[in-house]
Amino acid sequence: MSSVSASELISWWEAGARQHPVERAVTLLSAWSREPREKTASLSIGRRDRQLGAIYQSLFGPVLNGFAECLKCGERLEYEIVIPELHSDATSGNQQEITLSSGELFLHLRLPNSFDLIAVSGCHDVDSAQRTLGRRCVIDARVGESAIAVDVLDDSTWEEIAARLAESDPGAETLIDLTCSACAHNWQVMLDIERFLWAKINVMARRLLREVHILAQTYHWSEAEILALTPTRRQLYLEMVQA
Ligand SMILES: [Zn+2]
Repeated sequence: MSSVSASELISWWEAGARQHPVERAVTLLSAWSREPREKTASLSIGRRDRQLGAIYQSLFGPVLNGFAECLKCGERLEYEIVIPELHSDATSGNQQEITLSSGELFLHLRLPNSFDLIAVSGCHDVDSAQRTLGRRCVIDARVGESAIAVDVLDDSTWEEIAARLAESDPGAETLIDLTCSACAHNWQVMLDIERFLWAKINVMARRLLREVHILAQTYHWSEAEILALTPTRRQLYLEMVQA
């Protein structure tokens, strides 16, 4: 760990443990950047995920270790991805507001953020989630000089809106190519960087609390005292206790 203390990491874990992953991503970003939730929740999803990737890299290094099951033969597959490679083409661009015009139609859009993902988390299918997201992200719709209601937009326009939002927010939908080592089947999975980050924090926080438990039993130090030890000292005392 670089710039986060052991007790801070446990606080992150405690705050995020009962949250929906979208809320948890906001919690982790705010804890890391010390910015208010309103601000980190307003980041576009691409920018949010790039920042979560930066947190992961800073705490745990650049490699993500994932598992997947082959969709065809069920073989269990382990894979490794390096974070900078994923995001090397996604460092530029990313304007928060965009326009889309087609003939007389003019749309003023904004990129989806965590507030939008929370709003669609109650939708029961992908179509209604996409439509709800689209509606929230259309700031202004006009034909010529006249404002129109978004309800009159047709399906192909909604598809264009979805495509425009995706291309304007690099990193929001990162796909990973996987190939099964047993049957050579190819498929793609969506990278969920929050899941990788949370899995690591979860393991690390539980390990630290177990260390507190063991050392407190022997030395009767407080939790704060044990967590304030450097990792090297904590490890040494643990080795002595367990020898
Ligand atoms: Zn397979």
